[in-house]
Amino acid sequence: MVADACELSVRSSGVLLVVSGPSGVGKGTVLERLLERHPELSMSVSCTTRAPRPGEQEGRDYHFISPQEFQQQVAQGGFLEYACVHANLWYGTPRKPIEEALQAGHDIALEIDYQGARSVRQLLGGRATLVFIAPPSWEELVRRLRGRSTETEEATVRRMASARMEFRNMGLFEYIVINDRLDDAVDQLEAILIAERHRLHRTAWRQLQGRLLAEDD
Ligand code: ADP
Ligand code: 5GP
Repeated sequence: MVADACELSVRSSGVLLVVSGPSGVGKGTVLERLLERHPELSMSVSCTTRAPRPGEQEGRDYHFISPQEFQQQVAQGGFLEYACVHANLWYGTPRKPIEEALQAGHDIALEIDYQGARSVRQLLGGRATLVFIAPPSWEELVRRLRGRSTETEEATVRRMASARMEFRNMGLFEYIVINDRLDDAVDQLEAILIAERHRLHRTAWRQLQGRLLAEDD
């Protein structure tokens, strides 16, 4: 396994994979499949003031906190970014796990909205990789959102309004993946992850260069 050993020895910093797109497009489903293929990738767990859906678990899907607790975290600088999404709900990315992952050279994925993606880009520039997951059509997005049956009609309508905002802000992103066939979308996101790992600035290329030149002496 010479190729693996070689790749590991030249990795120097982790990929911060920011995945956005409208609610119901399949971000969670695509990321879950990617994690099965890449268990070394970790997922950031956001805080939210939204109530848990049936089946959602504290600490796995989200940290479910009250609006007061959310405000406390904001005041203490505990979030890397945070935003009000779907008109009345707050979501935020805890800062510490992201900083720890990046310092350790580990890859971490964030599933956040376009406002959060914009904040992360402003804060971290090229250290973050911004991917937009789009549906093949508006009709299919609405079908998936309604088919998931997790929301009231009012919450679904709010998510459709948020989806329009996501589409207006697609130009923020560096990559776009259309989640039509699930397997294709997972393949494409995996290809992005792998390509990003090989960016020169994420590798210890100077060490490799030094070693190769020394071997020539
Ligand atoms: P999000 O995390 O973006 O809100 P989910 O991952 O919860 O979306 O997916 C929403 C619904 O769409 C789920 O019922 C999921 O099974 C379904 N879904 C996801 N990807 C596809 C796909 N490529 N084709 C058909 N249905 C999909
Ligand atoms: P829901 O899960 O309630 O359907 O939708 C959550 C929305 O909020 C999605 O668009 C998701 O990407 C976004 N979101 C989840 N966590 C965060 C976060 O920590 N920060 C931001 N800015 N958006 C988030």
